[in-house]
Amino acid sequence: MSKQFQFKLVLLGESAVGKSSLVLRFVKNQFDDYRESTIGAAFLTQTVTLDDQTIVKFEIWDTAGQERYKVSLTQAPMYYRNANCAVVVYDITQASSLDKARTWIRELQRQADPSIVIALCGNKTDLAVRRQVTQEEAKKYADEEGLMWFETSAKTGEGVSEVFTAIAKKLPLS
Ligand code: GDP
Ligand code: MG
Repeated sequence: MSKQFQFKLVLLGESAVGKSSLVLRFVKNQFDDYRESTIGAAFLTQTVTLDDQTIVKFEIWDTAGQERYKVSLTQAPMYYRNANCAVVVYDITQASSLDKARTWIRELQRQADPSIVIALCGNKTDLAVRRQVTQEEAKKYADEEGLMWFETSAKTGEGVSEVFTAIAKKLPLS
């Protein structure tokens, strides 16, 4: 008999860093260069099988609106209320998007459930020729904050399943 565990996962980060594309890659193994922006909230589920006995089901919350929320105003906590895990995404070709990611992480550290599992994710590694955020800088910050850190390309799929598997392994399974 296998056991299934369910967790709420939220995506956070600046607009256009590839949050919805990461979800689309993880859930449907698809990518769309001309994908329309999320309108309202998108709610998707996907499972990760850790071993024959253990299945982790993610309820994934991806919205367009949260990008416009002013940090520490009242709406943002609604979005990550009861979240067990968060993927905070930046775009490796946009230095400003790492600053935005840091802001979201501070917000989560202040307001979210203290047991929340946070992964920092540098997306668009297929555009490494335009890289503005070094791996060293991002890794150092993640280490200082005690966060998991990954680089991904939603376009090629590189690193995407690893993010969700690593989160699944960090969640309390009991
Ligand atoms: P969101 O606003 O954070 O949800 O970002 P989207 O998922 O809507 O992506 C914004 C734009 O970046 C779209 O044109 C995507 O096709 C593109 N994009 C997303 N991920 C990648 C990636 O890994 N590589 C490249 N080259 N483009 C990407
Ligand atoms: Mg989106």
